[in-house]
Amino acid sequence: MELEQQKRYRAWAEIDLSALEQNVRAVQKILPEQTQYMAVVKANAYGHGDEAVCKKLWELGVRWFAVSNLEEALAVRQYCPYGEIFILGYTPPEFAPELSRNNIIQGVLSLDYANQLQHFAHQPVRCHIKLDTGMGRIGFRSASPEACAEELLPLFSLDRLSVEGIYTHFAVADSLEQADVAYTQGQEEFIIAVYDQLAAKGHKLKHLHFMNSAASVMRPNPRATLARVGIIMYGLEPNYPVHVPMELHPVMSLRSVVSHVKTVDAGACISYGRTYTADCPRTIATVTIGYADGYARLLSGMASALVHGRACPIVGRVCMDQLMLDVTDVPDEVKPGDVVTMFGRDGNMTITADELAAMYGTIGYEIVCGISKRVPRDVVGG
Ligand SMILES: *Cc1c(COP(=O)(O)O)cnc(C)c1O
Repeated sequence: MELEQQKRYRAWAEIDLSALEQNVRAVQKILPEQTQYMAVVKANAYGHGDEAVCKKLWELGVRWFAVSNLEEALAVRQYCPYGEIFILGYTPPEFAPELSRNNIIQGVLSLDYANQLQHFAHQPVRCHIKLDTGMGRIGFRSASPEACAEELLPLFSLDRLSVEGIYTHFAVADSLEQADVAYTQGQEEFIIAVYDQLAAKGHKLKHLHFMNSAASVMRPNPRATLARVGIIMYGLEPNYPVHVPMELHPVMSLRSVVSHVKTVDAGACISYGRTYTADCPRTIATVTIGYADGYARLLSGMASALVHGRACPIVGRVCMDQLMLDVTDVPDEVKPGDVVTMFGRDGNMTITADELAAMYGTIGYEIVCGISKRVPRDVVGG
């Protein structure tokens, strides 16, 4: 899209597909040969827009897609008619026919749930068994791999369930702390032992998966047939400021425009609550983005945004649809219509979603997922 056209937008998220491609290629290089790439595209591809992201991934040869629910799965089915689509989370069992009709693979989190799927299904539902090996969220929990394998056996006699795999989710794979590394190792050993026990009992499953982004690059394990790659594909860190051992290219930049510029005298107050008072004459630019766009109000008076390649501090409170920047130190004149980068690159300067997240105690994931629906996604680099 041309810059002139962009300026008609109040605020937009630029989605750089060439950055996505670089991230995917970098992860593929690290993954063992036996391990296929499963792109985690839940929550509208972490806020990036699932249509553009899925189509690009398909073009790059990615064939597995993970989502959190049926609605997302049906959307991905439209973009990738021949892809394998996997629902990580819960689908109400009465939708079992919908799952088989659309060839969607469901995670099975308990025996009870399996029985309900069996009850509602008309045709076999493809599924992977979810084990809770330490995340404490969903899945089968057992004291030992032996007991677990025993507990899973009834699943194989349900004729409207086609069990194709087994998986678990790590709680602290993104941590370098010794105790956390040992915890992850324990989770990994547990599921591999369950897999082997099942195989010994005559149920050799096609798929075994446990790696998320952090594990995929920090402890790639050739026993895994699939790796569920989310955040690093979007160019963000699983656990900022801990760095994963690869170069990350952030896919999303958040941009807006200047609507108004003024010079204020010492003593002038800016925005709700009068939290900012100019100590000397200042040039203030108003920007057409606010917390209703997903730019956190908690960043008031804390963060900066880039104007003409310069970091300009936010002054006063972030409003619903607008915020103010101190642009006094920008050497050339700031004018209405100038582009403002809330995060992303402008000239030689970059602000990352991870950095912003750390300022107010959250993670980059929450920032990109939280960019509102009213912010158009402008796809570039495709
Ligand atoms: C979201 C999710 C992932 C992806 O995690 P990242 O840290 O973004 O790579 C993998 N597996 C499960 C079960 C998830 O819910």
